[in-house]
Parts: sequence; structure tokens; C-alpha cells
Amino acid sequence: MTTETSTQPAVGNVKMIIGGEQVDAADGQTFEVGNPATGELLAHVPLAGKTDVDRAVAAAQKAFDDPKGWANWSASKRGRALQKYSAVVKDHVEELAQLEARNVGKPISGARGEAFAVSLVFEYYAGAANKIFGETIPVSKPGLDFTLREPIGVVGLIVPWNFPMNMASWKLGPALAAGNTAILKPASYTPLTAIRLGELALEAGIPAGVVNVITGPGGTAGAAIAGHPGIGKVAFTGETTTGQEIMRLAAGNVKKISLELGGKSPNIVFADADLEKFAAESPYAVFDNAGQDCCARSRIFVQDTVHDRVVDLFTEATRKVVVGDPLADATEMGSLVHQRQRERVTDYIAIGQEEGAELIYGGTAPEGAEFDAGAYLMPTIFDACRTDMRIVREEIFGPVVAIIPFSDEAEAVRLANDTPYGLSGSIWSRDIGKALRVAKGVRAGVLSVNSNSSVHTEAPFGGYKMSGMGRELGMHALELYTELKNVFVDLT
Ligand code: NAD
Repeated sequence: MTTETSTQPAVGNVKMIIGGEQVDAADGQTFEVGNPATGELLAHVPLAGKTDVDRAVAAAQKAFDDPKGWANWSASKRGRALQKYSAVVKDHVEELAQLEARNVGKPISGARGEAFAVSLVFEYYAGAANKIFGETIPVSKPGLDFTLREPIGVVGLIVPWNFPMNMASWKLGPALAAGNTAILKPASYTPLTAIRLGELALEAGIPAGVVNVITGPGGTAGAAIAGHPGIGKVAFTGETTTGQEIMRLAAGNVKKISLELGGKSPNIVFADADLEKFAAESPYAVFDNAGQDCCARSRIFVQDTVHDRVVDLFTEATRKVVVGDPLADATEMGSLVHQRQRERVTDYIAIGQEEGAELIYGGTAPEGAEFDAGAYLMPTIFDACRTDMRIVREEIFGPVVAIIPFSDEAEAVRLANDTPYGLSGSIWSRDIGKALRVAKGVRAGVLSVNSNSSVHTEAPFGGYKMSGMGRELGMHALELYTELKNVFVDLT
């Protein structure tokens, strides 16, 4: 595919979606959204406030209550609608990818894969819709006892800026399959593909009011969703501190909550591993999406006997990561999402040096006039790190990796677990028994052996400890969007 396509989105005014209508904010306010790789203005977007959230909740409740509406359709009919949604998204992969690449600064090749993955998530939940069922339970009293899984009602879906459309689809898919109606709020930096997904839902024949999209700041519009008494559940992906605030806000009406939060994932490499494979694949596990990935393998633990060789191989492989214009097909790492994010990461690079970590690669912006206007940074490698350093403890959310030596299996597990997070991780070893013992020992929700793969549409995804609660994707996600009802029938 070439990058010269007719689907380049124009700068313009975009609108939110409430009750099937494209609308401005009630008070007409807007905010600007840009391209972080160029500084170009992309769109003016409605700046929603509490009134707009109230409007969206009313529209979603009306759609939920409609006796002939979404929640009361047969599950198979909802599944067919989701199948259509998947097909419509598939028809718009290039457009969605262009929009995401320009708004997030991420490489177009990856954005195409992400847009296609959205269609696959909808396809999966299309098939899941009529497989949500209860159980019969042999209770002690004479009678019939059975359970029903029912939709919660209006659900709020609050998503971050790193994988905007994917995080939206992980929530929309199961929420809609189970019969809920939804209010989706994208992050302020990156609202464009969420709005487009709302428009495509209507195009696919999903009824008005089932998918509403609200754009606005987290502190006001997001908080209004998290605290709204008319919303039964909030699903959130974002920073751990924001997740804690959402828990507080959700307490008002004892909302159901699911949280996908930060991470500081370990990549553990033993001396007996295929070191070449580890080194060839692992730069992408941390520098992909410019390191703005909750699963980024940002802590590499390497067995001391192979430390120097692994560092050489990994650094050599990192040199090959192509940093450049997000819209160029060859680019593997684009810009960060915003100049503010680049400043935050740059601060961490300075902190790492002050803490005594050894900066062995990167640490600055790439050289060249083409990078001047964008929020670019080179992939950055620190060696000789310790788990008490801030660059090892805190989620940097940028292209920075810390290398830490270990001596044996027990120490590897102890150091990997020396973190408040527990999202994902990898173990590299040819000794499968050892790899599985370590996989069992690491307190994290998503682990891989001899691979850095974390996300599978069909398998559960989510974190231990301060990385969150609940599991997205797979059939497990349906539990997050249903209430469980028990019915007992006296048969005497
Ligand atoms: P963020 O927490 O700043 O924002 C996420 C969303 O929450 C945005 O839509 C924002 O507008 C909204 N928000 C902010 N304050 C709010 C409030 N008080 N009430 C309600 N909503 C509010 O996160 P971010 O910077 O957009 O994303 C990066 C973070 O997301 C990282 O910590 C990363 O690890 C995490 N993340 C986690 C996963 C996962 O599955 N575990 C996946 C992707 C990203």
C-alpha cells in the first residue's frame, strides 16, 4: 500500500454522537486536536461538559428501555448487527488507520493492523452474543434453580490515547454483545477514531442511542461519566492514579467498575535462551508505539553470565528500529503523542542519569530537520539499573528501557515482582520447566514464554496488583458487562 491515498482526513469540525445525532457541545465550546509528528492542526472537537453527559445518558437509557430496541433484540440479531459493524470497519481500515496515525503519531503500518484488529474484535463478539448463558444449579430445596446473565444498562467506556480505537473496541464489543447501551469517551489528545467508530456503528445499523460518543477533558466530562448515577458500570483504561479517582467517583452509586491500568512489565532472559531471537524481537516489545504501551517490556532482566552479549545484541537490534514520519510505510517508530509526553519522558531520561544508570543508546531526539516540529525521541537504553531506581519503578510511557542483571531463577522472580504493577511479562529460556516455574512465580495477568505477545482477542487480558481489575477480551470480558441473576422456582 502507498501512503498517498484519497482517505487523508481533512482538518475540520467534528461532532459528538448522542442519540444517533451528530451534535456540538451544549455550550458550543470546542478544543483543538493536532498531529504530534508535525504540529499541524487536525480538527476542532466539541468540548463536552456535564450537560452533554446528561444528554448522552438520557439517550442511552432511552435506547436501553425501548421494548423493541437493542437490549430486547434476540442475542442472535445483536450478533448479526455486530457482524455488520465488523464488516463496515473492515471497509474503512485505511481511513481509520490514516486518522489514527496522524492523530497519535504512530506508524501507519501498525495503525493498519490496529484498525483491522478492531474489526476482528467486533467479529469475535458478534459470535459471542448468543453464547452468553446461565446455569442450572442443584439446590437443596425442591425446585428449579437457574441463573440468567443480563445486561447492566447504560455503561460508560473511558479510553486512553495510546491505542484509541483498539481500547474502544475491547469495551464496545462485549458491552454491545451483552445488550448494554454505551457512552464512549476517548482521551482529549486522540478523539478522532472514536468519533468515527460511533458514526460507523450507525452506518452498520446499530440503533440510535446504543453507541454515544462524548469528547471532552477527563477531569470534567470523564469525571461526569464516572460519577453519573444513571450509569451502571464504568470500564476504564488509563493511568493507575486516574483509575483510583474513578473508583472514588464510582462509589456514589456503587457502579460496577473494570480497570486496565499501568504496567512496568519484565522481560526475563536466561542464559540458556535463544538470545538472537530475544534480541531481534524485544526492541519492538518496548519501542513499539514509541513505548506508550501498557504492556511495554520496559524492564529487561538478564542473567549475569550473558549480560554483555545480550546488551550488545539488543543494542544492535535497536539501531535497526526505523524512526521517522508516521505516514511512511517503512517507519517502525513515529513520534510520541504530544510534546508534553515527550517532556515527561525526557525528564525521566535525566532522572535515570542522575540515579547512576548507564545511558548506552538514545536519550535525545533523532537528528534531522524533519524531526524538528514533532514530538520525537530516539529509542533509549539504560544499563546497570537497580529496582530501587525511579526509572525502574515508575511507568515512563515512552521509548525507554532499563536493563537489570540477575544471578539465578529465584532472584529473577523476586526482582520481576519488585513493582507495584502486574500487567504482563515475558520469559526466555530453552528449559521449559524453568520458564513455566517463572511464569507461575511472576505476579502478572498476561505472560508469554519465548515471545513478547500479550494480546489475543480470544484470551483474557488484564492486570494483577495496581495494574487493574477485571479481564478484557475473550469470553471473560462478558462478565464485566453482565449482571448475574439467580431464579428459584418452587416445584412443589
Ligand atoms: P489517563 O488516565 O490520563 O486518561 C485515560 C482516560 O481517562 C482519558 O479518556 C481521560 O480523558 C480520562 N480521565 C482523566 N481523568 C479523569 C477523571 N478524573 N475521571 C474520569 N476520566 C478521566 O491515561 P492516558 O494518559 O490517556 O493513557 C496512558 C495510561 O493508560 C498509561 O498508564 C497506560 O499504562 C494505561 N493503559 C493501560 C492499558 C491496560 O490495558 N492495562 C492499556 C492502555 C493504556
